[in-house]
Amino acid sequence: MAQLSGKSVYLTGGASGIGKAVTEAFVKEGAVLTVLDKSIAGLNQLKQQFGDSVQCIEGDVTNYQAHADAVRLAVEAYGKLDVFVANAGVFDGFAKFQTVTPEAMSNAYDILFDINVKGYFNGAKASVEELKKTGGNMIFTVSGAGFYPDGGGVWYTASKHAQIGLMRQLAFELAPDIRVNAVAPGGTLTALNVISPLQPFVKTVDNETKEKSIKSRNPLRIAMSSEDHVGAYLLLASDNARAITGEIISSDGGLSVRGL
Ligand code: NAD
Repeated sequence: MAQLSGKSVYLTGGASGIGKAVTEAFVKEGAVLTVLDKSIAGLNQLKQQFGDSVQCIEGDVTNYQAHADAVRLAVEAYGKLDVFVANAGVFDGFAKFQTVTPEAMSNAYDILFDINVKGYFNGAKASVEELKKTGGNMIFTVSGAGFYPDGGGVWYTASKHAQIGLMRQLAFELAPDIRVNAVAPGGTLTALNVISPLQPFVKTVDNETKEKSIKSRNPLRIAMSSEDHVGAYLLLASDNARAITGEIISSDGGLSVRGL
């Protein structure tokens, strides 16, 4: 039997990158998904690709109401909610703290923490009651930057540490009803956006350089693609992970063996 047969999943940031790969893998394993993203073009593509298995809602993760609407839609369309995947995120492009002006520092903080941290709080809050009814679970996309320095600049690294704190406290508070876990991808070839206040302070890196840099940093020498991470999400979402909560699966080519 398919691993996620009949599961109803709410996922943020499914229009691109890791969220899109997870959506595809979950549909293949029998799930139906409700996807919130701010990219209309990406959502239209998703709908074309997956038809009735996916319903899309355009919105911003910083807005609690967008999550509440998505959860309501999921329950209306599929009768229940089994899994919430908090995934939509943005990057700081490794901007260096010392070179950024105080104004840009503060704007960057507001924008990045609103999306990466408040976005996860909002989604968890909007899903909790429905997940309680099904004995469901949450999965947070975190990052190696949630453990080590140099997986981003201070904004991204601090936000990823905050996501892990949120995940651990929720795993503690929501047990025994809801499991809460995380997947920590290492550097992955996606279009992860650098927020606008920091763009003047970062170098643009072409894909070839990015690929070489990712490969050279992890012991398995993999330039990871989004699809490389889906196995971890499938496991955590499924009933095979019944005894797992408060855990983080690193999917990083072995970065955790030696740090970044
Ligand atoms: P991506 O840009 O390909 O996907 C992010 C998605 O989130 C996009 O579809 C985007 O439209 C959406 N999004 C961004 N801001 C939003 C908002 N305010 N409201 C609604 N949707 C919004 O990037 P990705 O690399 O797939 O990133 C997904 C997650 O993976 C993020 O949490 C990121 O921090 C994490 N991650 C990425 C890497 C990497 O190297 N790419 C490594 C570790 C962790």
